Amino acid sequence: MAVKGPSEVDPKHMMRGINNVGAGWHPLVRELEAKLLEMDQSYVLDQIKEKFGGLRYYATNSTTKVDYAAFHALIQAAEGDSFQICEVCGKQGSLKSVFGWYKTLCEDDFDKVIRDRQKEMTEHDHGGQG
Ligand SMILES: [Zn+2]
Repeated sequence: MAVKGPSEVDPKHMMRGINNVGAGWHPLVRELEAKLLEMDQSYVLDQIKEKFGGLRYYATNSTTKVDYAAFHALIQAAEGDSFQICEVCGKQGSLKSVFGWYKTLCEDDFDKVIRDRQKEMTEHDHGGQG
């Protein structure tokens, strides 16, 4: 298919790997990177991550010839869209609070995360912390 985006060069990279965000957002990231590469073929991805339930994508242009505002408008649009996409499965989602952490999830994955977290906490209670 298309050229690999910078986040897919080393998907597990601590700063720049697409696996820093859930699989539900991978299509969003790929679409964003395809558009960014059209504008600037050798832009540098500094960091990709999830923060406060939304996608964060930090990139630096390789040349001053790029329309900086348009380039960053694409990133902002994708970051905004991430708040409507479940980070786990890619279905329609919304911002949820999971025991104080913000995550963008669909109803099913929200239930699942809550259940897993409750299970974890129960196990910790019984296991005891030495
Ligand atoms: Zn989901």
